[in-house]
Amino acid sequence: MTVRIGVVGTGAIGKEHMNRVEQRLSGAEIVAVTDVNQASADQALQELGIQAVIYPDDQALINAEDVDAIFVTSWGPAHEATVLKAIAAGKYVFCEKPLAVTAKGCMDIVKAEMEHGKRLVQVGFMRQYDSGYMQLKHALDTNIVGEPLMVKCAHRNPEVNEAYTTDMAISDTLIHEIHVLHWLLDDDYVSAQVLFPRKNKHALPHLRDPQVIMLETASGVLIQVEVSVNCKYGYDIQCEVVGEEGIVSLPEVESISIRKDGKLSTNILHDWKLRFVDAYDRELQDFIHSISRQGIPSGPSAWDGYVAAVTSDACLKAQESGQKEPISLESTPDFYQTETKAHA
Ligand code: NAP
Repeated sequence: MTVRIGVVGTGAIGKEHMNRVEQRLSGAEIVAVTDVNQASADQALQELGIQAVIYPDDQALINAEDVDAIFVTSWGPAHEATVLKAIAAGKYVFCEKPLAVTAKGCMDIVKAEMEHGKRLVQVGFMRQYDSGYMQLKHALDTNIVGEPLMVKCAHRNPEVNEAYTTDMAISDTLIHEIHVLHWLLDDDYVSAQVLFPRKNKHALPHLRDPQVIMLETASGVLIQVEVSVNCKYGYDIQCEVVGEEGIVSLPEVESISIRKDGKLSTNILHDWKLRFVDAYDRELQDFIHSISRQGIPSGPSAWDGYVAAVTSDACLKAQESGQKEPISLESTPDFYQTETKAHA
């Protein structure tokens, strides 16, 4: 079965996902698009050489009989409404992060999906499809270094534009670590604290950068994530898990080594889009295959979207208060435990 996809939001990531479906992935085709700016939808189709119907809005696209699954790649505040409409129509939906901009919005989606009776939603947390993180997960699941005690991470961008604000270090940047570390450790967060070291002189006046986020899990693992968005030297993602009997680390991005002028060097990526290209491919291929072969998405769930939103809210509160803020999550409904495990 070929999965017929409708895309809501034909901006940067919408176009990238359309292109990967058409050029690199199997089992799906783009048949419909919509965007608040119809001209941009038209331009996207022309740029990518795709023939698809342009609908006036998300509801019309969702209602189309030849659309089996929806990609939600519009801007964050519009995600919740589109996902709820897709669930109401019983259609599969791949939603870029954030699932919703509030924890309540995520919970409303969780409730709607549970009422529908089976999983329809996958959230675009692609890091768990990165081969480095998959190796880390295998190492932790097989207890190679014993139980994890501490995790040290860094999320560094060379620069950001003027629109990037201090809270976005949490809601746009840290959100990826929030999800992937929850998945890696399989352990809920219980508290968050945010510390601000000396400010980087390259940060614009309105931005507090860098930031250090401390998260604590239910089993007592202490996590430290450095978010630096003016590091200048490149886009660099680091993750090291300290266990009882050793340390496991995310591998460096593969790159040739250069011996020249008395130096041995390797390049560091600059463009974030290149770091997780394979992971984006794998997450969408998994979505397409799992809904067409098993009738259910197996990737990050609406519950994962909810966990990320609650944790992100606590981090934002901690930015303001300077205090350690508690994180209280409702317990995972059986619906998500059994469904996720059955199709992991
Ligand atoms: P973008 O380039 O601004 O694209 C968003 C597109 O959606 C724009 O064409 C925008 O139109 C359109 N749009 C806005 N509201 C809409 C609505 N109500 N209905 C239909 N279309 C609407 O942004 P982007 O970088 O592609 O990001 C899109 C989403 O993907 C964001 O939530 C972002 O956080 C997420 N994202 C995730 C990753 C990841 O690593 N997983 C990476 C990048 C982005 P206008 O331009 O006319 O406003």
